[in-house]
Parts: sequence; structure tokens; C-alpha cells
Amino acid sequence: MTELYTKLDISADDVVLPFQIDPYATRGRVVRLGTVVDTIVKRHSYPPLVARTLAEMIAMAAALAATLKYDGVFTLQTKGDGPIRMMVADVTSDGAVRAFAQYDAARLEGLGEHPSVPKLFGAGFLAFTVDQGEHTERYQGIVELTGTTLAECAHHYFRQSEQFKAGLKVAAAAHDDSSGEPRWRAGAIMVQSLPPEGAQGSAEGRDLQRPLTEAQEEAEDGWRRALILMGSATSKELVDPDLPPWKLVDRLFLAEGVKIYRPHELRHACRCSRERVATVLRAFPREEIEDLKVDGALVVTCEFCNTSHVFDDAEVAALYDKPH
Ligand SMILES: [Zn+2]
Repeated sequence: MTELYTKLDISADDVVLPFQIDPYATRGRVVRLGTVVDTIVKRHSYPPLVARTLAEMIAMAAALAATLKYDGVFTLQTKGDGPIRMMVADVTSDGAVRAFAQYDAARLEGLGEHPSVPKLFGAGFLAFTVDQGEHTERYQGIVELTGTTLAECAHHYFRQSEQFKAGLKVAAAAHDDSSGEPRWRAGAIMVQSLPPEGAQGSAEGRDLQRPLTEAQEEAEDGWRRALILMGSATSKELVDPDLPPWKLVDRLFLAEGVKIYRPHELRHACRCSRERVATVLRAFPREEIEDLKVDGALVVTCEFCNTSHVFDDAEVAALYDKPH
């Protein structure tokens, strides 16, 4: 977070807008997603309930990823025994976003418009993973899916985590564009209390045995105020195409002396490629791969982007011919 954001007239989708409230030692960001979530949802033709839930999950992943310093891939995943068996959303440090859901269409029926997390996901977990490539340690945090909404599940994680004092709100909705076609949008807002200087590592950022100093008390009050103000953002505002993210931040925090920084862009991009698929296939014995052929061709479909990578007879043979 270096540069103050000056072009405040830009109404941008597919961005993370960072902000900071210095007197409250609070940092935050607004996530706004338009084309990114609409593209992901439409590639898979997800039913509305799955579309909205996955769009929320993507906005949440983007908000969480923006709180971390990493060079690689941040992944948010749910797994459960409910109608939505699995959802995965990942965000690279350079802003590439992709996601998919696995669900049981028959079990989605009769759930209503806004079913709770237990109804949608059943019993399961939410996992946070940061992968920074080979030769680095993979970070993973896992919590049970506890809460009515995905944001509440994230709060459960924040409470369990030693380092995180944060609040989060997410929303997603379909809006009709000028031609009457529904387009999916998603948004999130997150605030995070920065630990006081010299207090890194302790759960609450301070020694509980010692009384709070006046400055700490003020920061504590400010943090609570920031949480309340964040909570006053409505679902409609989080996804409103006519309310630029910076305006939302100003509406909530202008009186608190908020500083808004340059936004980071997000885009939809998948990391699958024919070469990567070939590498995975080569790891299996040839007989097993031959068994997977249908009508003389092997089709491997990427779950994230729904692209089919096709290998015909000669191409399958070539996988095992070439020296690698
Ligand atoms: Zn892909």
C-alpha cells in the first residue's frame, strides 16, 4: 500500500480498493467484481443459487487474499456433505482469479432463495491455503463451516486465528444489463485491526495482564466504530454498479479521516494448459490412460475454466514416446 488514490472519478469493476483509517489503526479494502464473476458463472451455466454463492465466495477470496503478503496462489475452498459439495476460488498475487463449484442439482430444489450455509453445504469445512511455489512451506488454515453465511464462517476463522482481528461482509446479485441479460456482480468489504507496534504475534496484539494505555483504548474504540460502520454497508451497496467503490468507502468512513489507495486490478484467468495436462497424464501408466479414451480420444476438462483439452490416439501415444 504505497500510493494514495487520486483518480477518484473512476467507477471500476474487478478491483480491490485498499483504504486505511490511521487514527483507528485499521486497514480495509473493498472488492468489486463484475466481468470476473459473470464470466466464471456463465462458463459453467450454474443455477442461480450456486452462481450467487460462488460469486460471494470469489469476492471473499479476493478480500482475504488482499490482506496477505504472498507471491503465488491463495485458495479458498469449501467441502461438505450438502447440495454444494465443493467450491474452490483462487487468487494469484498478480490478480488472476478462477473458481468452480461442484453441486447436486436435485438437492438444490426447494431450498428457497437464501438458504443458510448448513442447508447449502451441510457439515464440512472452509480451508485457506497459500501456495508460494516449490521449495516454500505451504500455509493452510482449516475451520469447520460454522455460521449462517459464508462471511460468518470467515469470522469463525478470524476468531480461531491468532493473527486476525477482522470483519467482513460479502454480497452477490444478478443485474440486468442494457439488453436485459442478467449479469452477475459481487462485492466485499473487509476491515482489519492492525496490531500495535511491537506487539506482533500475541493473540490480541497486547499483553492482557497490563492495563490499556489511553492510546490503545482509543484505538480499541476506533476499531469497534470501524466494525459498526462497515456493518452499515448494505448488500445492495456492495454490488451497486452506480456506486463506485471509493464512494462507498467515503460514505462509510469519510468522517474518520480515511485514506484511499490505488486499486489493484483483478481478472479472470486460468492456469491450465495442454502442457500441464500432458504432464499430469504422463504420471499415470499408459494402460490407465488408454482406458479413459472415449471414441479414440481422451478429453480432459478443466474444472476451473471448463476448457476441454483433447488428445487423440496419436497424441496419447506421443505422451509416452518423447523423452522428457
Ligand atoms: Zn482451466
